Amino acid sequence: MHVCFACPLCERPARLLLGVSTDWQCPACDHRLRFEAVEPALPVCAVCGNKELYKKKDFPHTLGMGILVAACVVSFFTYGWYEKWLTWALLIGTFLFDGILHFWVGDAIVCYRCHAHYRGFQAADAHKPFELTIGERYRQEQIRREQL
Ligand SMILES: [Zn+2]
Ligand SMILES: [Zn+2]
Repeated sequence: MHVCFACPLCERPARLLLGVSTDWQCPACDHRLRFEAVEPALPVCAVCGNKELYKKKDFPHTLGMGILVAACVVSFFTYGWYEKWLTWALLIGTFLFDGILHFWVGDAIVCYRCHAHYRGFQAADAHKPFELTIGERYRQEQIRREQL
């Protein structure tokens, strides 16, 4: 179980193993955070204490899209060479590969407020997929905070 988060003060990215309670000190700005031993169900964000978290597939979207785009480009050429079966095999293969990849990668749990990413946790029922309305509320809140 580990968390990827941005330092609340200087926003330097950090990565930390969770489990027992630990003290964390930012290597860039010396900001200190106290991480209590977290429950496996992760009811609150260990970084900012926020109760609203969402789950998402821990899968880089750009990679998935990149694979699809690459397959489409290649199939354009194979189709041009009248390799109909090769083209279909390529497209279907890519589709399956994407599906397997999606299935294989686990869930990441993300904090709405500080965007800390938790990995290695089992997403609980309390963790719903991202909701735009909640995300928007936190985005507005962040804008207000930055204006202060
Ligand atoms: Zn810092
Ligand atoms: Zn948080």
